[in-house]
Amino acid sequence: MLLEVKDINTYYGNIHALKDVSLHVDNGEIVAVIGANGAGKTTLLNTISGVLHSRTGEIVFEGRPITKLSPDKVVHLGISQVPERRQVFSTLDVLDNLLLGAYLRHGREPKEEIQKDMDFVFEIFPILKDRQKQMGGTLSGGEQQMLALGRGLMAKPQLLLLDEPSLGLAPLLVREIFRVAGELREHGTTILLVEQNARAALRLADRGYVMETGNVVLEDTSKELLGDERVQEAYLGGSGS
Ligand code: ATP
Repeated sequence: MLLEVKDINTYYGNIHALKDVSLHVDNGEIVAVIGANGAGKTTLLNTISGVLHSRTGEIVFEGRPITKLSPDKVVHLGISQVPERRQVFSTLDVLDNLLLGAYLRHGREPKEEIQKDMDFVFEIFPILKDRQKQMGGTLSGGEQQMLALGRGLMAKPQLLLLDEPSLGLAPLLVREIFRVAGELREHGTTILLVEQNARAALRLADRGYVMETGNVVLEDTSKELLGDERVQEAYLGGSGS
């Protein structure tokens, strides 16, 4: 097991945002967490990455407790988060945005290794190769999403946390992002994916968890969840659609 989240409770002041949440991610899997606005999905990712800390419960990564670690320590251990709403550096060009993603590797790994990953990012997102010298802030929303994902990959993480990668994207681009995520799995990257677009997420993922108001209410293989009446009614726009 790569990541295990055990009974975590996270609060914002008095607001109990995660209630005894447990889940796990195995090596090489894509796991989806679906749920409506405010269900706690982003809070979950932020608690894993150390941006927030749970009051109780435990998070274990590769057998090691990370519950109380700061975000930079968590990144060092091999967890990279691609936050909701992109957050690319608007006054840096595409190339520098990508190189920043690899900042922990500079000086520790041969340049060729970093270049290899850059080539891979350019291969999966050719538009970024064409726009290397363009400022991050002038890219379209979809291009920024690709850049944010590319930057996450440049950290060469063992676990990639993706927060709503489809947010605000046109259907074609959503398909593109999910295609890339599937390709990443084939290259051995493990992904925990948070999405409101339940159908796209479950079609891609191996397994899924459904969150409602801070609780995990369902967990199963994606196939089972896609066929589940409750999931269909609440998240897939009704049965059979
Ligand atoms: P969305 O898809 O809309 O981002 P989500 O499932 O990611 O939703 P969270 O952002 O994790 O949901 O929010 C979970 C709950 O915690 C919500 O009720 C939200 O209002 C609350 N919350 C989130 N951030 C804060 C904050 N900084 N202060 C207080 N409450 C917060």
